[in-house]
Amino acid sequence: MGIESDAIWLGLVALGGALAAALIALAVAALRLREAEQRVRDKEVEHQGVLDRLQENEYRLRAIIESEPECVKLQAADGTVLEINPAGLKLVDADRFEDIVGKPIYSVVAPECIEIYRENMRRVFAGEALVYEFRSITLKGRTCWMETHAVPLRDARGAIYALLGITRDVTEHKLAEEQVRRHQTELARVARLSTMGEMATGLAHELNQPLAAIANFARGCIRRLRSGDVAPGELIRPLEEVCQQAERAGEVMRHVRDFVRKREPVLAATDLNQIVRGVAKFNEMETRQQNAVLKLDLAPELPRVWADPIMVEQVIGNLVRNSIEAMAEARSRRREITIRTAASGRDAVEVEIGDTGPGIDGALIDQVFDQFFTTKPEGVGMGLSISRSIVESHGGSIRAESRAGGGATFRFSLQAVAQRESSVERRYSIHR
Ligand code: ADP
Repeated sequence: MGIESDAIWLGLVALGGALAAALIALAVAALRLREAEQRVRDKEVEHQGVLDRLQENEYRLRAIIESEPECVKLQAADGTVLEINPAGLKLVDADRFEDIVGKPIYSVVAPECIEIYRENMRRVFAGEALVYEFRSITLKGRTCWMETHAVPLRDARGAIYALLGITRDVTEHKLAEEQVRRHQTELARVARLSTMGEMATGLAHELNQPLAAIANFARGCIRRLRSGDVAPGELIRPLEEVCQQAERAGEVMRHVRDFVRKREPVLAATDLNQIVRGVAKFNEMETRQQNAVLKLDLAPELPRVWADPIMVEQVIGNLVRNSIEAMAEARSRRREITIRTAASGRDAVEVEIGDTGPGIDGALIDQVFDQFFTTKPEGVGMGLSISRSIVESHGGSIRAESRAGGGATFRFSLQAVAQRESSVERRYSIHR
C-alpha cells in the first residue's frame, strides 16, 4: 500500500473514533434528557397528588362544615358575611345563601348589641380569640340569643383576612338562666320578708311580757296614789320593777336593731360562754313553747376568741332555732338541745350545738350549708349558709354531723386570742 492510502486509512480511523465519541456523547445526552423528563413527569405526578390531596381535604372540610349542626361563618373586617354553612342559614332564617352572603352581619344583630358587636370584631381582627353573646333579630324577625366563638383567620404571610365564627342559639339557656336569677331574687325577697315576719312575731312575744308587767305595776301605783293612803317609799319597789321591765324591753329592741342593721364586723376579744348564755336567754320563751329544754355545758376559763359578738350570736341563734324547728317538725318525744363550749387545742375554741331531733340524712349532710337548701315546707335555706359565711369570714370552720341514734350536731371553731392580746380590743374589718 502506498503512503496515500495509509493516510486515507488513518483519516478514516480517526473519523470513526470521532464519530463513535460523538455517538456516545449523544447517547449519554439522550439518556440524561430521558432522566430529566422522567423527573419532570414524577414531579408532575407528585404535584398532582398534592393537588388531589388538597382538593380532597377541601372537600372533606367543606363536607364537615356543611354537615356541622352549628353555624360556621367567615366574616370580613367590615362585617360582610363571606361564607356561611346551611346550619348558619337556618340560624338567621335565610332561605338562600344570597340572602346573607355578601350582606353585613349587622342585619341580624339587635340594635342595642351592634356597638359591642363591632368592638368584638375589632378585637378579633386585632388577633384575639373571643366568645361573645348577643341578641339577634333574624331575617324573619325572630328574636333569639346567640353565642359566637370567634377566631382570626390568617393567610400564609400571617395577615388576618377573616373572622371564623361558630355560632349557636343559646336562647333556651339564657331564658333558663334568667328564670333561675328571678327565682333567686324572689327567694331572697321571701327570705328577707320571712326573717322580718319571724322577727316581728318574736318581737311581739318578747315585748308583750315586759309591757304587760309595766302596765300592771304602773296601774297598781296609780290605784294606791288615788286611794291616798300610800307612803312614797312604798312606791319605790313597783317603780323599780317598771324600770327593770322597760330595760328588758330596751334590750330586746337592741337585739333587733343589731340584727337588722347592716354593719361592719367589729372584732373584739369575746367570751363565747357569755354569748351562749345570751342566746339561751333570748330563746328561752320559744324553747319553752316548743316543750324543749336547753342545756348548757360551758367550759370554765374558756379562752376568749377574736370575733364580732353580734355575728357569733346570730350563728348560735340560727343553730338553736334550727334544732327547735327540727324537733318540733319531727314531733320528737325528747326535745333537748345542748350547747357545749371547749378549748380545742391551744389556739381555738369550739362550740357544739347538739339536739335530739330527727338528725340529717347522710346523703344531705354536705348540702345543708348550700344557699337555698331546705327540707322545710316554709323554709328558705339561708340560715346555715349565712352562718357558714360568718364563721369562715372569722377564719373558722363549721361542720354538721348526724348521730346514729338520731339528732344533729353542729360544731364550729374560732381562733382563740393569745394571752397577751386578750386585754386589747381591736377594731378592723374582716371582709376578704
Ligand atoms: P331553713 O331553716 O330555712 O331550711 P337552714 O339553712 O337553716 O334553712 O337549714 C337548711 C336545712 O338543713 C334545713 O331545711 C334542714 O333540712 C337541715 N337542718 C338544719 N339544722 C338541722 C337540725 N338541727 N336537724 C335536722 N336538720 C337540720
